Amino acid sequence: MVLLDNINLKTFNTFGIQANAKGIIPIYNEINVFEVLAAQIRPLRILGGGSNILLTGDVNAYILKNEIKGIEIIDEDENQVLVQVGAGEKWHQFVLWALSQNLAGVENLSLIPGSVGAAPMQNIGAYGVEQESVFHCLKAIHLESGVRKVFFKDECKFGYRDSIFKTLVKDQYFITHVVYILKKKNYTVRTDYGAINDILAVKGITSPTIHQVSDAIIEIRKSKLPNPVEIGNAGSFFKNPVVPVEKFGTLLDKYKYIPSYPVSETEVKIPAGWLIEKAGFKGLKRNNIGVHHLQALVLVNYGDGNGKEIHQLAMEICQTVQNNFDIIIEPEVNIW
Ligand code: FAD
Ligand code: NAP
Repeated sequence: MVLLDNINLKTFNTFGIQANAKGIIPIYNEINVFEVLAAQIRPLRILGGGSNILLTGDVNAYILKNEIKGIEIIDEDENQVLVQVGAGEKWHQFVLWALSQNLAGVENLSLIPGSVGAAPMQNIGAYGVEQESVFHCLKAIHLESGVRKVFFKDECKFGYRDSIFKTLVKDQYFITHVVYILKKKNYTVRTDYGAINDILAVKGITSPTIHQVSDAIIEIRKSKLPNPVEIGNAGSFFKNPVVPVEKFGTLLDKYKYIPSYPVSETEVKIPAGWLIEKAGFKGLKRNNIGVHHLQALVLVNYGDGNGKEIHQLAMEICQTVQNNFDIIIEPEVNIW
């Protein structure tokens, strides 16, 4: 076990926020976790790629930095494979691996930053697909008792950017491996979301392969989202609110062009980015922080921005949206 004392976390979070932790411990396998527990090192926090956290101050804990690697087919039949992935693998590397094997299921989740171990945490999703659609089970270690546990799909209570790992058992389990089911054949590709079909049409593609869908999504994402290497950010800072249809009806009377997507017969999703833009925050720059000029859902750190200031701005945005539209929007990002 390697323990690096008093570490600056600036390069460990995509917001690029300066903050110190008591120490950082790279975890290469399950044994490393048991060593930490046996040495009674406490308190502990778990970190993957740091692309979904906002540091609002120093972290009074030792960080377990997940570096567990490996992608292994553990079972297969003529239609599908079960793939076990080390939780410290980069998510997009896993997507690239699936594409290289002609395995379908994760192509719409191309180019999402972060680790495989964090994917079940908020049930990552993009372009109409969530990781739960390919999830089989995950392996985790309970940090209090050191007991190993396998969580199958039903137990994870996956929802929109949500799971029990973000709620009921938050910070209690270190996820070491995730097992996914990917399809060899008999699958359909999903292209009806966002600009995928437009991009494919421009290229004259009518029956896209998983590779072509992935390429289209990568192209859209690169054109719309700030690259954290250039401007610090954690992707969408807020979740899209879901409101009852009656409430949406009253908003429609006032805002004729309000975008919406049906969630069920009784509920409608409204893009939080639209609400934030209408509330006047899109492109806002305040000292070294702000709201991205192309995507109002993304809060940014232009340089030496401070996590507390970003958090305050986020709360101000929530309050203004609530005042203007009577809608509560919630952060998607984990506030540390
Ligand atoms: P971290 O930020 O390191 O951790 C996030 C949380 O998970 C923390 O609470 C941490 O303690 C916990 N955690 C991490 N690893 C483990 C583990 N092994 N065991 C237990 N708990 C763990 N998200 C989407 O859903 N869809 C998108 O399209 C998307 N696009 C993005 C685009 C950009 C440019 C950025 C910066 C972010 C985007 N995100 C998106 C958010 C983010 O990439 C995902 O939430 C990702 O899964 C976070 O992974 P991570 O390893 O960086 O997690
Ligand atoms: P977009 O295509 O401009 O669409 C704006 C919003 O409308 C999205 O948030 C999406 O909701 C919703 N939407 C669009 N088409 C939809 C459809 N056909 N059915 C239902 N809802 C629809 O969004 P974007 O910002 O460029 O992002 C594209 C995708 O990548 C989205 O799925 C988004 O969630 C994902 N993404 C996520 C993050 C993150 O950090 N979480 C960052 C970047 C991109 P949903 O968000 O619910 O899908």
